[in-house]
Amino acid sequence: MRIVVLAGGIGGARFLLGVREYARRTGAEVTAVVNVGDDLRLHGLQVCPDLDSVMYTLGGGADPERGWGRVDETWTIRGELAAYGVEPSWFGLGDKDIATHLVRTTMLNAGYPLSIVTEALATRWEPGLRLLPATDDRLETHAVVTDDQGTRAIHFQEWWVRHRAEIPTDRFVFVGADAAKPAPGVLDAIGSADVVLLAPSNPVVSVAPILAVPGIREAVVAAPGRVAGVSPIIGGAPVRGMADRCLAVIGVECSAAGVGGLYGARAEGGLLDTWLVDSTDAGAAVPGVDVRAVALRMVDEAATAAMVAAAVEAA
Ligand code: GDP
Ligand code: CA
Repeated sequence: MRIVVLAGGIGGARFLLGVREYARRTGAEVTAVVNVGDDLRLHGLQVCPDLDSVMYTLGGGADPERGWGRVDETWTIRGELAAYGVEPSWFGLGDKDIATHLVRTTMLNAGYPLSIVTEALATRWEPGLRLLPATDDRLETHAVVTDDQGTRAIHFQEWWVRHRAEIPTDRFVFVGADAAKPAPGVLDAIGSADVVLLAPSNPVVSVAPILAVPGIREAVVAAPGRVAGVSPIIGGAPVRGMADRCLAVIGVECSAAGVGGLYGARAEGGLLDTWLVDSTDAGAAVPGVDVRAVALRMVDEAATAAMVAAAVEAA
């Protein structure tokens, strides 16, 4: 069996631990297509927060408390940059993490596409599944905000990390998406998958930027396999993070049914055949979609693998 997962960072990474566990038991082959909309250049380095969260988590090198970055991290370089008064000071890069960005940026500067760079980095981390960026092209999520400096677009990381999403926001824009092409392998993986899973990632700023790459949404809508999504919203709130703020910006109710409705039924040109909601949200309905209620808290790998089994078997 072939499984493709569309995933963001922390939620996506935790979900992929369960997918890998399920695949170990069943012999399934897994491809993860990961969001690049959060990527940014900092101090001359190309940083890919979601790819790194997934790679470190699957490779056993992530900090389990923070959820992002490396375990046993040190912050000498951040302190030195601060001593120079260098901005941006709101985005901290740890010393170990910086080594990843140095390798990545050197390879990108030498002309390798991000997908090849990601494969090279993964030879160290052995994630146990195929990791693909959604695109090799530049695609950045920006938030259009209004403050005392007027209306302007700021990078998603500035909106999320610096402003904690607490700034009047009109909309999100996926800069570069129109001209982006799916990374090599993405469309083939979706087209030959038995099941496509939408991880319980942020639908607005993790899954939507993947689908914004021309051809990817179309490939999922037309996929010969079944498509199942997992709700990141339980009992009307995100389990972690600020997906509620992102959903408010696009005018979608923060609920399992709201997000299911945003993705929509495949029968009606949307994405979903099946939508998994938490047991506490049993009764949530999405027109045209087979909605199943199961435990959706990713408390450990076994619980997450059970979620994945439910999603795959329903699909
Ligand atoms: P990010 O890119 O690091 O923000 O991570 P993602 O977009 O991949 O995932 C963020 C989403 O994961 C949030 O909206 C959370 O609600 C969701 N999430 C985190 N933990 C859990 C969990 O245990 N169960 C479910 N269903 N969703 C979760
Ligand atoms: Ca992210």
